[in-house]
Amino acid sequence: MTDPTSKTNQPKCPVLTTADGAPIGVQQALTAGPRGPVLMQDVQLLEQMQHFNRERIPERVVHAKGSGAYGTFTVTKDVTKYTKAAFLNKVGKKTDVFLRFSTVAGERGAADAERDVRGFALKFYTEEGNWDMVGNNTPVFFVRDPYKFQMFIHTQKRDPKTNMRCMDMQWDFWSLCPESLHQVTILFSDRGIPAGFGNMNGYGSHTYSLVNADGERVWCKFHFKTMQGIKCLDDSVAASMIAGDRETHQRGLYESIERGEFPRWRFSIQVMTQKQAESFRWNPFDLTKVWPHAEFPLIEVGTLELNRNPENYFAEVEQSSFSPSALVPGIGPSPDKMLQARLMSYADAHRYRVGGNYQQLPVNRPRCPVMNYQRDGVMATAADYGPRPNYWPNSIVTEPKPDAQFADPAWKLGETIVDRFDSTVDHDDYTQVANLYALFDDAHRDRLTTRIAGVLGQARQEVQMRQLCHFFRVDPDYGQRIADKLGVNVADFMPADEAHAMA
Ligand code: NDP
Repeated sequence: MTDPTSKTNQPKCPVLTTADGAPIGVQQALTAGPRGPVLMQDVQLLEQMQHFNRERIPERVVHAKGSGAYGTFTVTKDVTKYTKAAFLNKVGKKTDVFLRFSTVAGERGAADAERDVRGFALKFYTEEGNWDMVGNNTPVFFVRDPYKFQMFIHTQKRDPKTNMRCMDMQWDFWSLCPESLHQVTILFSDRGIPAGFGNMNGYGSHTYSLVNADGERVWCKFHFKTMQGIKCLDDSVAASMIAGDRETHQRGLYESIERGEFPRWRFSIQVMTQKQAESFRWNPFDLTKVWPHAEFPLIEVGTLELNRNPENYFAEVEQSSFSPSALVPGIGPSPDKMLQARLMSYADAHRYRVGGNYQQLPVNRPRCPVMNYQRDGVMATAADYGPRPNYWPNSIVTEPKPDAQFADPAWKLGETIVDRFDSTVDHDDYTQVANLYALFDDAHRDRLTTRIAGVLGQARQEVQMRQLCHFFRVDPDYGQRIADKLGVNVADFMPADEAHAMA
């Protein structure tokens, strides 16, 4: 290894600069005389101090202590009969991923070898957007109603008075919530303390939906089974590890990747048809339940490998942001109440702790084009949209528009249809406006149409014509007055029969 402090054979080192890029001549405080005081005009020093004060962002309320790595997902089996997800459409296809492991209850400095559930949050950078599989190392969870989630987490954190973890509040909550028994049993089983992040499974836990190219929907669960084998720690071994090193799992993951020993998982799904769901003896959307393997066997999809460490922990791991709402065509939600709540809550948490444009950061950025009308906000780079229009609908042919081929098929939930219903059809947008126009006397109509023509005249001619049609549909007099004030001869712009009908 080269010695980075050696002065021989070193490439020329770059000049130190301020954050604005100005070269720095001397990196010492600017003072009036060698003993001080320090001058206000030492902007280099001020900038460094002020930036330092802003180095931390709020830590995650849950899953604060984490470790991450990049990797590759490879499709090994054809699952196109279940999903049209583009990144799964061909055996052998590879997709870049980023995976963040975490403990749940501890703060950012917590020890890795605690008995706790582990987060398993996986971002697939697919060609049709990011798919975030935000799961845990357990197939179930403590509660099934989202109202209880925040309360449950409070019981795992610190007592408000003593600032210590409190077994009384944990067990008080659990004893009042028998739905937690399944997860509590897994947590206190021999698998409650994984020996390393590579020695545990990952589960999507929730039920999701898959939709294939024919628009057929099935329910599904996601499983990532470790290929290193399950290995766990006894409490006494874990306690002595924590005494010597709080970063055991971070160290294990980082060093194994540096050595070229890349941890791998086999990705499988369980599939349940909508018909099976209707007669399944448990609610298939209940997060406290699994689907037994004997009835819903694992179907292999592919292999996940972690093979690259991040270069900068804060930028790439601390700011990595995962949300179950990051879905791609072919993978969708289910009625699971906890999932429905998480669809909102996770992205909201990132907007609070990282910022409204967290998806623009390199680790979170989709690797495909991002085309929407969201604009501005803290730290907006405008990299994707620059000067382009920020509203929809618009009539500019070069601007992004929805494509029906990506629309999800409707859901039938009992008698109710869940769909994106078009709010512009089957509505009368003209009669009540005509009734109002009929109330106006001639002078009022004149003032109204003068005002409108004054501003409508500043729009493109194509826009003027489209809007004029609406005024004509309300009342031909309304349309004609504005057309006259715009200097528009309606017959020049409308098909003859329509102009005739309007006049
Ligand atoms: P199976 O015998 O087909 O599967 C048992 C599952 O339990 C295996 O996936 C095994 O994982 C896993 N397992 C074994 N010990 C533990 C542990 N201490 N903590 C967590 N998981 C463990 O039975 P069923 O499918 O009928 O499930 C029976 C029970 O197994 C469930 O109630 C649930 O608690 C647990 N389980 C079930 C899963 C499922 O999706 N069906 C998934 C994980 C757990 P492995 O194969 O890796 O050893």
